[in-house]
Amino acid sequence: MKKQHPKKSLGQNFLTDQNIIDIIVNKGNINQNDVILEIGPGTGNLTEKILFQKPLRLYAIEKDKFLAKKLREKFNKKINLINDDVLSVDEKIFSCNSIVVFGNLPYNISTQILVKWIRLNNLNKIFKKFILMFQKEVAERIIASTNNKKYGRLSILTSWKMNVKKLLEVSPGSFYPIPKVKSTVLLLEPKNEFFKIKNPKNLEHITNVFFNQRRKMIKHPLKILFKNTDKISKKLNININDRPQNLSPLKYFELCKEYENLTF
Ligand code: SAH
Repeated sequence: MKKQHPKKSLGQNFLTDQNIIDIIVNKGNINQNDVILEIGPGTGNLTEKILFQKPLRLYAIEKDKFLAKKLREKFNKKINLINDDVLSVDEKIFSCNSIVVFGNLPYNISTQILVKWIRLNNLNKIFKKFILMFQKEVAERIIASTNNKKYGRLSILTSWKMNVKKLLEVSPGSFYPIPKVKSTVLLLEPKNEFFKIKNPKNLEHITNVFFNQRRKMIKHPLKILFKNTDKISKKLNININDRPQNLSPLKYFELCKEYENLTF
């Protein structure tokens, strides 16, 4: 069989540790009515084990042409393979709800993938849960809480729309080729109730402005966003001498609402 070397540019580190693969698949509690979406199936290690659980349907998005062809040969009609970039796939093509997503994500675009999903209006309708492998350092940023030095944009955006739980850590030796970083698997479940924001890009913008100057007191970013910073800080009961990491996600949502009232 023709082979190709794993492509660094596509973040190809294939999970080879069968034990870890079993644990990940079991965490999904797949039942026979579940529709699954796998991101970056690669050589199909995870895919194969998911299929053992006999889900109703399995979609898989793989960008690599060569691997997509191999996967088609290997699984034939058992999977719905989409040979495309996950970042450009429109979720509307999944004509079903409550999808369970698995992915040993390509690390170079893992946060872009997550943010793309968070932006979706009907995230909680389309997706039931996500079981995703991140670079450990990124997972820590996602789950960090207020006052933690890893707390920031990603923690706030994620907690706006999802409940997050750490499932397990995976050592570099569980992959081929062996990555330079450690990995962490997270479970993310879309919230049904969440703070009303008109446009998620505004929350992205606000958290950008604040955390670009992570060490500065928040009076500085506040001045960039609002004319009357006194009024805003009083209304939201925030201390302008605090640092960005001291504000809870809720304060950022409230700031976003004030910002949207101003400009839209
Ligand atoms: N899930 C497999 C492979 C993980 S490596 C396993 O655990 O063994 C990441 C996979 O994502 C690779 O197969 C890579 O080709 C694919 N990939 C990288 N960028 C992608 C993109 N933009 N869209 C879809 N798949 C991508």
